[in-house]
Amino acid sequence: MISISNIEYSYDGALKKALDGVSLEIGEGEFVAIVGHNGSGKSTLAKMLNALLLPDKGSVSVFGMDTSDEEKTLDIRKKVGIVFQNPDNQIVTTVVEEDVGFGPENLGVPTEQIIERVHSALEAVGMLEYAKHAPHMLSGGQKQRIAIAGVLAIDPDVLVFDEATAMLDPLGRKAVIEIASRLNREKGKTVVMITQYMEEVTAADRVIVMSGGKIAMEGTPEQIFRKGDELRALRLDVPVMVELRDMLVREGLMKESNVLDVSQMAEVICPLLLKN
Ligand code: ADP
Ligand code: MG
Repeated sequence: MISISNIEYSYDGALKKALDGVSLEIGEGEFVAIVGHNGSGKSTLAKMLNALLLPDKGSVSVFGMDTSDEEKTLDIRKKVGIVFQNPDNQIVTTVVEEDVGFGPENLGVPTEQIIERVHSALEAVGMLEYAKHAPHMLSGGQKQRIAIAGVLAIDPDVLVFDEATAMLDPLGRKAVIEIASRLNREKGKTVVMITQYMEEVTAADRVIVMSGGKIAMEGTPEQIFRKGDELRALRLDVPVMVELRDMLVREGLMKESNVLDVSQMAEVICPLLLKN
């Protein structure tokens, strides 16, 4: 569905390549997480997915459309929507529902359809009751949900979240992750979740670790989190529950397991505690 073939990219005047030989396939309905330290090339890669940037070398194909084909740019942007880090930069009007309708309007969606789409997009992010509110009066987490609704109203098949939780408090972060998972599970949307928070990748089908403009590791969350030392060498943390799991296993207090998050840990550890 998305096929990235050996792309390279350098920003004007930069000495170092921001992307240096990246190849990646993303399949329909997949939930892919991309992690990596600051400056590893994640945002540059995200912008390649809907023709906001074009590779210097190699190619990006989205539903069979080459992103370098200018005639296809609009069609590509209808297929792939990106939610960015800072919700304030994504708000363009003074009324929530107008803001959510801005994207589809720009892409030439007929007005009757826009009204419907705005309604269902706001519903999907739990913000319907704020339709007539002023976006700048909302909390950071609410603004980010409006930004997500704005992308949903375009009805893309692929949703890219580029550190969309980075500026939110823990509750706001959790809400965004839950919305992304639900859109993936229930609406079949393909999700690309770019994040610095390792706890946020445990729900992904596949994790891509970037470093220095290259893909450094790739695998299921279980496979990736078995390689704690490699992750730390790339200046990434393993989730707290994985640290705890490995510690308990080392101490002989728990059998080897695939525990990645709190609820899985509770499932394994509660019976042990009750036994003693
Ligand atoms: P990440 O999203 O993983 O933090 P980026 O894709 O933003 O990484 O950046 C990759 C590299 O490209 C970094 O070395 C960064 O400094 C550089 N870079 C990013 N944006 C620009 C820009 N607009 N101009 C020049 N260099 C940039
Ligand atoms: Mg970035």
